[in-house]
Amino acid sequence: MSSSKRTTRALLLVQKMLEAHESEISCSECAEKMDCLAELKVVGKTPEGALEAIERHVECCHCCAAEFEALLAILKMESSAETHEA
Ligand SMILES: [Zn+2]
Repeated sequence: MSSSKRTTRALLLVQKMLEAHESEISCSECAEKMDCLAELKVVGKTPEGALEAIERHVECCHCCAAEFEALLAILKMESSAETHEA
């Protein structure tokens, strides 16, 4: 009886790990939505839902992080240019 309980716990753990993996997004999904995230960041808003997942991906994926930094720099430059013109 106790051994089957242990098996169930192990299965639950595996299931949790799979769920966590599923909620992670791919680099191509990240690339599609990272401009939205960058715009939010520039205006100082907190990303929610799907964009929150993008932010997490950018934080742990080096190649997307580099791309995101570049995008953020461009958007910041653009927004400051707009402010100066107005
Ligand atoms: Zn990535």
